[in-house]
Amino acid sequence: MNLLLSRRNVLKKTFALSALSVTGVAGLAVPSVSFAASLTKDERDKMTPDAVIEHFRQGNLRFRENRPLKHDYLAQKRSSASGQFPAAVILSCIDSRAPAEIVLDTGIGETFNSRVAGNISNSDIIGSMEFACAVAGAKLVLVMGHTACGAVKGAIDNAELGNLTGLLEKIKPAIDKTDYAGERSASNYDFVDAVARQNVVLTVENIRQNSPVLKALEQEKKIKIVGSMYHLVGGNVEFFDV
Ligand SMILES: [Zn+2]
Repeated sequence: MNLLLSRRNVLKKTFALSALSVTGVAGLAVPSVSFAASLTKDERDKMTPDAVIEHFRQGNLRFRENRPLKHDYLAQKRSSASGQFPAAVILSCIDSRAPAEIVLDTGIGETFNSRVAGNISNSDIIGSMEFACAVAGAKLVLVMGHTACGAVKGAIDNAELGNLTGLLEKIKPAIDKTDYAGERSASNYDFVDAVARQNVVLTVENIRQNSPVLKALEQEKKIKIVGSMYHLVGGNVEFFDV
Protein backbone atom coordinates (compact mmCIF):
# COMPACT_ATOMS: atom_id res chain seq x y z
CA MET A 1 0.00 0.00 0.00
CA ASN A 2 1.27 3.44 -0.88
CA LEU A 3 0.90 4.87 2.57
CA LEU A 4 2.86 2.08 4.19
CA LEU A 5 5.49 2.12 1.52
CA SER A 6 5.98 5.84 1.77
CA ARG A 7 6.16 5.72 5.53
CA ARG A 8 8.63 2.89 5.37
CA ASN A 9 10.82 4.81 2.98
CA VAL A 10 10.77 7.86 5.18
CA LEU A 11 11.58 5.79 8.20
CA LYS A 12 14.20 3.62 6.59
CA LYS A 13 17.07 5.99 7.32
CA THR A 14 16.01 6.78 10.84
CA PHE A 15 15.74 3.17 11.79
CA ALA A 16 18.57 1.64 9.88
CA LEU A 17 20.10 0.70 13.21
CA SER A 18 17.05 -1.24 14.31
CA ALA A 19 17.32 -3.29 11.15
CA LEU A 20 20.71 -4.44 12.38
CA SER A 21 18.98 -6.20 15.24
CA VAL A 22 17.16 -8.45 12.81
CA THR A 23 18.36 -11.99 13.16
CA GLY A 24 18.13 -14.79 10.71
CA VAL A 25 19.73 -16.22 7.66
CA ALA A 26 19.66 -14.19 4.46
CA GLY A 27 16.33 -14.76 2.78
CA LEU A 28 14.67 -15.66 6.04
CA ALA A 29 15.32 -12.41 7.87
CA VAL A 30 12.25 -10.39 8.70
CA PRO A 31 12.64 -6.68 8.00
CA SER A 32 12.33 -4.64 11.16
CA VAL A 33 10.30 -1.58 10.25
CA SER A 34 9.50 1.08 12.78
CA PHE A 35 6.63 3.49 12.84
CA ALA A 36 8.52 6.45 14.22
CA ALA A 37 5.53 8.72 14.40
CA SER A 38 1.75 8.61 14.44
CA LEU A 39 -0.41 8.99 11.33
CA THR A 40 -0.33 12.48 9.85
CA LYS A 41 -3.44 14.17 8.52
CA ASP A 42 -2.11 13.93 5.00
CA GLU A 43 -1.38 10.22 5.31
CA ARG A 44 -4.79 9.49 6.78
CA ASP A 45 -6.70 11.65 4.31
CA LYS A 46 -5.10 9.86 1.36
CA MET A 47 -6.46 6.52 2.56
CA THR A 48 -9.72 5.17 1.21
CA PRO A 49 -11.90 3.02 3.50
CA ASP A 50 -10.71 -0.05 1.58
CA ALA A 51 -7.10 1.04 2.05
CA VAL A 52 -7.67 1.18 5.81
CA ILE A 53 -9.04 -2.38 5.72
CA GLU A 54 -6.01 -3.52 3.75
CA HIS A 55 -3.76 -1.70 6.23
CA PHE A 56 -5.37 -3.72 9.03
CA ARG A 57 -5.15 -6.96 7.06
CA GLN A 58 -1.42 -6.44 6.70
CA GLY A 59 -1.09 -5.57 10.38
CA ASN A 60 -2.96 -8.73 11.37
CA LEU A 61 -0.72 -10.78 9.07
CA ARG A 62 2.37 -9.33 10.79
CA PHE A 63 0.82 -10.17 14.16
CA ARG A 64 0.14 -13.76 13.14
CA GLU A 65 3.62 -14.17 11.71
CA ASN A 66 5.15 -12.68 14.86
CA ARG A 67 6.83 -9.84 13.01
CA PRO A 68 5.09 -6.73 14.38
CA LEU A 69 6.40 -3.29 13.52
CA LYS A 70 8.92 -1.95 15.98
CA HIS A 71 6.63 0.73 17.33
CA ASP A 72 8.35 3.72 18.87
CA TYR A 73 5.50 4.52 21.26
CA LEU A 74 7.25 7.52 22.77
CA ALA A 75 7.75 9.07 19.33
CA GLN A 76 4.10 8.32 18.48
CA LYS A 77 3.03 9.86 21.76
CA ARG A 78 5.03 13.01 21.02
CA SER A 79 3.88 13.39 17.41
CA SER A 80 0.20 12.88 18.28
CA ALA A 81 0.12 15.07 21.39
CA SER A 82 -0.85 18.17 19.45
CA GLY A 83 -3.37 16.46 17.18
CA GLN A 84 -4.69 13.05 16.16
CA PHE A 85 -5.71 11.72 12.76
CA PRO A 86 -6.86 8.12 13.30
CA ALA A 87 -7.91 6.10 10.25
CA ALA A 88 -10.65 4.07 11.95
CA VAL A 89 -12.95 3.64 14.91
CA ILE A 90 -13.12 0.09 16.25
CA LEU A 91 -15.84 -1.45 18.42
CA SER A 92 -14.68 -4.66 20.04
CA CYS A 93 -15.25 -6.83 23.10
CA ILE A 94 -13.56 -6.24 26.45
CA ASP A 95 -12.10 -9.77 26.29
CA SER A 96 -8.47 -9.64 27.40
CA ARG A 97 -7.52 -12.02 24.62
CA ALA A 98 -8.86 -9.80 21.83
CA PRO A 99 -7.01 -6.46 21.97
CA ALA A 100 -7.71 -4.90 18.57
CA GLU A 101 -4.69 -2.61 18.53
CA ILE A 102 -2.32 -5.51 19.13
CA VAL A 103 -3.90 -8.06 16.80
CA LEU A 104 -3.99 -5.43 14.03
CA ASP A 105 -0.49 -4.18 14.90
CA THR A 106 -1.47 -0.54 15.15
CA GLY A 107 0.16 2.25 17.13
CA ILE A 108 -0.74 5.34 19.11
CA GLY A 109 -2.89 7.77 17.15
CA GLU A 110 -3.98 5.21 14.57
CA THR A 111 -7.42 4.05 15.80
CA PHE A 112 -10.25 5.17 18.04
CA ASN A 113 -11.33 2.29 20.24
CA SER A 114 -14.54 1.42 21.99
CA ARG A 115 -14.73 -1.78 24.00
CA VAL A 116 -17.75 -3.32 25.66
CA ALA A 117 -18.63 -6.91 26.47
CA GLY A 118 -20.13 -8.53 23.39
CA ASN A 119 -19.28 -5.52 21.17
CA ILE A 120 -22.86 -4.24 21.21
CA SER A 121 -23.67 -0.65 20.32
CA ASN A 122 -25.67 1.98 22.16
CA SER A 123 -26.26 5.69 21.65
CA ASP A 124 -23.08 6.69 23.51
CA ILE A 125 -20.93 4.38 21.44
CA ILE A 126 -22.61 5.49 18.21
CA GLY A 127 -22.11 9.11 19.27
CA SER A 128 -18.42 8.34 19.75
CA MET A 129 -18.30 6.83 16.25
CA GLU A 130 -19.98 9.92 14.82
CA PHE A 131 -17.29 12.06 16.45
CA ALA A 132 -14.57 9.76 15.10
CA CYS A 133 -15.82 9.91 11.50
CA ALA A 134 -17.72 13.17 11.05
CA VAL A 135 -15.48 15.37 13.22
CA ALA A 136 -12.09 13.67 13.38
CA GLY A 137 -12.11 12.21 9.84
CA ALA A 138 -11.81 8.45 10.41
CA LYS A 139 -12.56 6.41 7.27
CA LEU A 140 -13.71 3.11 8.71
CA VAL A 141 -16.09 1.85 11.38
CA LEU A 142 -14.95 -1.66 12.28
CA VAL A 143 -17.07 -3.88 14.51
CA MET A 144 -14.96 -6.77 15.76
CA GLY A 145 -16.43 -9.85 17.37
CA HIS A 146 -14.35 -12.82 18.44
CA THR A 147 -14.57 -16.55 18.91
CA ALA A 148 -15.33 -18.14 22.30
CA CYS A 149 -16.91 -14.89 23.49
CA GLY A 150 -17.98 -15.14 27.14
CA ALA A 151 -20.64 -12.46 26.72
CA VAL A 152 -22.24 -14.41 23.89
CA LYS A 153 -22.10 -17.59 25.98
CA GLY A 154 -23.70 -15.71 28.87
CA ALA A 155 -26.49 -14.48 26.61
CA ILE A 156 -27.15 -18.01 25.35
CA ASP A 157 -27.22 -19.27 28.95
CA ASN A 158 -29.55 -16.45 30.08
CA ALA A 159 -26.98 -15.45 32.71
CA GLU A 160 -28.14 -12.81 35.16
CA LEU A 161 -25.90 -10.52 37.19
CA GLY A 162 -26.52 -6.90 38.10
CA ASN A 163 -26.15 -4.58 35.13
CA LEU A 164 -24.75 -7.40 33.02
CA THR A 165 -28.26 -8.81 32.61
CA GLY A 166 -29.36 -5.81 30.56
CA LEU A 167 -26.21 -5.86 28.46
CA LEU A 168 -26.69 -9.53 27.59
CA GLU A 169 -30.27 -8.78 26.52
CA LYS A 170 -28.77 -6.74 23.67
CA ILE A 171 -26.98 -9.82 22.37
CA LYS A 172 -30.04 -12.09 22.48
CA PRO A 173 -31.56 -10.98 19.14
CA ALA A 174 -28.46 -12.49 17.52
CA ILE A 175 -29.24 -15.88 19.08
CA ASP A 176 -32.71 -15.94 17.56
CA LYS A 177 -31.39 -14.84 14.17
CA THR A 178 -28.62 -17.42 14.01
CA ASP A 179 -29.51 -20.13 11.54
CA TYR A 180 -27.90 -23.20 13.08
CA ALA A 181 -28.99 -26.82 12.77
CA GLY A 182 -26.77 -28.36 15.48
CA GLU A 183 -26.85 -28.10 19.26
CA ARG A 184 -27.83 -24.56 20.23
CA SER A 185 -26.03 -24.34 23.57
CA ALA A 186 -23.23 -22.33 25.15
CA SER A 187 -21.14 -25.47 25.42
CA ASN A 188 -21.12 -25.83 21.64
CA TYR A 189 -18.41 -23.40 20.56
CA ASP A 190 -19.38 -23.73 16.92
CA PHE A 191 -22.81 -22.33 17.81
CA VAL A 192 -21.32 -19.66 20.12
CA ASP A 193 -19.11 -18.45 17.26
CA ALA A 194 -22.05 -18.43 14.82
CA VAL A 195 -24.01 -16.26 17.25
CA ALA A 196 -21.00 -13.96 17.76
CA ARG A 197 -20.77 -13.46 14.00
CA GLN A 198 -24.52 -12.76 13.74
CA ASN A 199 -24.14 -10.34 16.63
CA VAL A 200 -21.54 -8.40 14.63
CA VAL A 201 -23.93 -8.27 11.67
CA LEU A 202 -26.75 -6.94 13.86
CA THR A 203 -24.44 -4.40 15.50
CA VAL A 204 -23.42 -3.02 12.09
CA GLU A 205 -27.08 -2.84 11.07
CA ASN A 206 -27.95 -1.16 14.36
CA ILE A 207 -25.27 1.47 13.81
CA ARG A 208 -26.65 2.27 10.35
CA GLN A 209 -30.25 2.38 11.61
CA ASN A 210 -29.47 4.63 14.54
CA SER A 211 -26.99 6.97 12.94
CA PRO A 212 -28.19 8.99 9.96
CA VAL A 213 -24.81 10.76 10.25
CA LEU A 214 -22.77 7.60 9.66
CA LYS A 215 -25.23 6.18 7.13
CA ALA A 216 -24.94 9.35 5.06
CA LEU A 217 -21.14 9.30 5.21
CA GLU A 218 -21.23 5.69 4.04
CA GLN A 219 -23.63 6.45 1.19
CA GLU A 220 -21.29 9.24 0.13
CA LYS A 221 -18.50 6.62 0.16
CA LYS A 222 -16.50 8.68 2.64
CA ILE A 223 -16.51 5.84 5.15
CA LYS A 224 -17.29 2.13 5.32
CA ILE A 225 -18.96 0.28 8.17
CA VAL A 226 -17.78 -3.33 8.19
CA GLY A 227 -17.77 -6.38 10.41
CA SER A 228 -14.97 -8.71 11.46
CA MET A 229 -14.29 -11.74 13.59
CA TYR A 230 -11.06 -12.30 15.50
CA HIS A 231 -10.22 -15.98 15.82
CA LEU A 232 -8.54 -16.72 19.14
CA VAL A 233 -7.06 -19.85 17.61
CA GLY A 234 -4.76 -18.84 14.78
CA GLY A 235 -5.12 -15.10 15.37
CA ASN A 236 -6.83 -14.31 12.07
CA VAL A 237 -9.05 -11.25 11.80
CA GLU A 238 -11.66 -12.06 9.18
CA PHE A 239 -13.25 -8.96 7.61
CA PHE A 240 -16.70 -9.07 6.02
CA ASP A 241 -19.23 -6.72 4.49
CA VAL A 242 -22.64 -6.45 6.11
ZN1 LIG B 1 -16.16 -11.33 24.12
